[in-house]
Amino acid sequence: MTAQPHRITVIPGDGVGPEVVRSAQRIIAAAGVAIDWEEAEAGAEVFRRGDTSGVPRATRESIERTRVVLKGPLETPVGFGEKSANVTLRKLFETYANVRPARELPGVPTRYAGEGVDMIIVRENIEDLYAGIEHMQTPDVGQCLKVISRKGSEKIIRYAFELARREGRRKVTCATKANIMKLTEGLFKRVFEELAGEYPEIAPEHLIIDNVAHQMAKNPAQFDVVVTTNLNGDIISDLASGLVGGLGFAPSGNYGDDVAIFEAVHGSAPKYAGKDVINPTALILSSLMMLRHVGESGAADRIEDAVLVTLEEGRAVTQDLARQTGGDVEHAASTTGFTDSIIANLGKQPTTVPPRAGTERPSGPAAPRPRWSYGPEVAAAVPRTTVGVDVFLETWEPVAAAGPALEALAGDALRLQMISSRGTMVWPSTGLKPDAVGLLRARYVARAEGAAASDADISALVARIGERYAWTHLEKLHVFAGADGFTKAQGQ
Ligand code: NAD
Repeated sequence: MTAQPHRITVIPGDGVGPEVVRSAQRIIAAAGVAIDWEEAEAGAEVFRRGDTSGVPRATRESIERTRVVLKGPLETPVGFGEKSANVTLRKLFETYANVRPARELPGVPTRYAGEGVDMIIVRENIEDLYAGIEHMQTPDVGQCLKVISRKGSEKIIRYAFELARREGRRKVTCATKANIMKLTEGLFKRVFEELAGEYPEIAPEHLIIDNVAHQMAKNPAQFDVVVTTNLNGDIISDLASGLVGGLGFAPSGNYGDDVAIFEAVHGSAPKYAGKDVINPTALILSSLMMLRHVGESGAADRIEDAVLVTLEEGRAVTQDLARQTGGDVEHAASTTGFTDSIIANLGKQPTTVPPRAGTERPSGPAAPRPRWSYGPEVAAAVPRTTVGVDVFLETWEPVAAAGPALEALAGDALRLQMISSRGTMVWPSTGLKPDAVGLLRARYVARAEGAAASDADISALVARIGERYAWTHLEKLHVFAGADGFTKAQGQ
């Protein structure tokens, strides 16, 4: 029993949301954890009332007060042009760490049952291609910026190591595509390698993300904690959920510096809404992450054991699981009945899998301490030179003609170093003949070896190019502390 009730915002959500949220609330109350729930609204009904954010001010204010949210799924209405209220909530409170445990559960049949799958995927949740910065470069060529910062990487990687330490886990795998994207995924990998030394009891490992997918299908039990960038994490966290039973069993926590939001991975499953048939396990497991976050690890462990016992017994089986096991779907347990069974099993321990109670793990949010300083002074202290510029331009002109024309436009201070099409050098000719898409990149560098390219030189160049070509965007070529801040083209 806690002396002071915890204040937590609860958003019942849409579709089956209220049913699964209610199930978790009943179990938490039965376990004796005192919570002062602040019920708040978000999602479909809010959109219908004309609030295009889907998250009313009262809800935001409640979250600012309580800093902890238990949330049912929110429907994103199609046809209103609104942004997803889920994404809005994550962005509003900058919940940068998306944590998705995938643990084998007794009584839930999978191809890997018995292998002891028990991993936690820690996905960076703000940056990467999901920053949503997209531009059409021509009517037919789109571009999405992949933004990875050292600070964003440090926060999520430290989060993963702190989580591993708290949970007594032995290995953290960093999953990237650093072999191809050396300056973005590569930065993430470098930060991982630099931080790993601070956690000597945890084995660090780096794997290329495609190999992670392969290994997860072959031998998922080898993974412990996996930390990764946003897009990689989106894909492999769903893969990991699939390994242990799918949507009905997949919990998640979204952690920020100030606010944490706990929710099932699944959506509002509208066709089951109000029927008392949905499987509440995913939301219950999410609520256990919430209890651990607020320092109620003991209660979370007891409830988790009761969930494991209920699944192990196989007496109360929800429709989805009955379908998977070839059981009696007609007489499957209702959401309420399944919840009652868990409550009845509080205090029992599972026998076919290790119990959680008694494992003595410290709880509470990770307290990531930054290793590096960030800010304008720190950035300004890094020696830098602008050595040139990449000018992207819309043209279908053959490079045999565009090359000399763009070279002639270079001027006295700069020279045309190369032209590439979709990253492959096409001028001077390397013999490669990539298909043209109507967008070229012309790379200009200072004529004098190692000299700087001034803004005035670049502006004059762009003005000259603009008289003949439709340029679409520019990228300066920086050298930071002696290291090239740009990559070479394929074939360069
Ligand atoms: P969904 O997850 O709601 O449902 C897909 C199917 O999975 C269901 O029909 C059901 O068969 C099964 N399923 C899902 N949860 C289950 C559970 N707990 N127990 C048993 N079976 C379960 O996905 P969807 O149909 O693509 O999306 C419906 C709505 O939910 C959409 O409006 C979508 O935008 C929203 N959504 C919200 C979230 C969120 O709030 N985080 C996540 C995903 C989808």
